[in-house]
Amino acid sequence: MQFIDLATQQKRIREDLEKRLGAVLDHGRYIMGPEIEELEAKLAAFTGVPHAVGCGSGTDALLLALMALGVGPGDAVLTTPFTFVATAEAVALLGATPVFVDIEPGTWNLDPASVARALAALAEGGDGHPLPRPAREGGLTPRVLLTVDIFGLPADFDRLAPLAREHGLVVVEDAAQSFGARYHGRRAGSLGRLGCTSFFPAKPLGGYGDGGMCFCSEPELAEILTSLRVHGQGADKYQNVRVGLNARLDTFQAAVLLAKFTLFEEELELREAAAARYDRLFAAAGLPLAPQARVPGLVSAWAQYSILAPDAAGRERCLAALKEAGVPAAVYYPIPLHLQKVFAELGHAPGDFPVAEDASRRIFSLPMHPYLTEEAQESIAA
Ligand SMILES: *Cc1c(COP(=O)(O)O)cnc(C)c1O
Repeated sequence: MQFIDLATQQKRIREDLEKRLGAVLDHGRYIMGPEIEELEAKLAAFTGVPHAVGCGSGTDALLLALMALGVGPGDAVLTTPFTFVATAEAVALLGATPVFVDIEPGTWNLDPASVARALAALAEGGDGHPLPRPAREGGLTPRVLLTVDIFGLPADFDRLAPLAREHGLVVVEDAAQSFGARYHGRRAGSLGRLGCTSFFPAKPLGGYGDGGMCFCSEPELAEILTSLRVHGQGADKYQNVRVGLNARLDTFQAAVLLAKFTLFEEELELREAAAARYDRLFAAAGLPLAPQARVPGLVSAWAQYSILAPDAAGRERCLAALKEAGVPAAVYYPIPLHLQKVFAELGHAPGDFPVAEDASRRIFSLPMHPYLTEEAQESIAA
């Protein structure tokens, strides 16, 4: 059994894939070939935003988005500690400070009440929220609310967006895990002023290597992103108007993604069906295991199917039993970011974000992909 089955998918599109890769070999435009624009147009339309800018990875997408907004030293970017390190790493790379905010216990996404407390503490000081050291020492300007759609489930934008608006923060959506998810009819990636996604092979829409994309509605922002991804290029490639990156999407990856995208909507439905089967199996078993909460009006992209065990020992028992039965499982994320060594200088301590810490002790993820059979799921649940 596989945690993510990419081989079955490849069999379905092998012919199309070879045709598209062959076309790239024929035209030879390995950098910024025509497949990039074709993919950008298709994914912008799918996401429901006017502009999509392909880039080298999900991490690049986050960096480009924050750079386009001019985020830098002295700026606070509010985000969750219960995410992949890249979310806060992009903030730190630009010299800005991640201000962590706790999550909600059922969805594991940003808790709007904790965001409100963080904003109050940033404005007025006090002990209402465990702020990072730079905020306590010199003060920081709150600039961005960087939401994460954890495991594919969009964050609570209807409660987060008004808070951001009220405090003059820009919402950036880390949709690396949620491409294809729906939030009351809107697609993930379109919910903030900028959306960022990843095409890492294990993500819902994954390539055969690294890749990413930014989404936005404003043509001015799209132009800045396009410039930033190629060394801050101006009117042509020998004019440089800002400090940028080499953060292009490869033509070959765009060709792979075009082939995979032909299956994507069907695969989203298959993922949802697999998640619903897991939900039913666990509900019927009457075990003290709590899958990620469902939110009415939201459809997850199911990057992962994750469950909370009743306690740390319960998780170890589950993981041991799964291993014994030959079922691959994973723990996302065993250490919340505020307790990672890389962010030690922020001065956080255990207890600062109790919901994220509790989830880190109890969570585990089961195999999840569009080609998971009912039979396999029954044996996993058993
Ligand atoms: C995967 C991921 C990223 C980074 O994407 P890469 O393509 O691996 O750089 C960022 N944020 C989250 C939440 C992710 O899951």
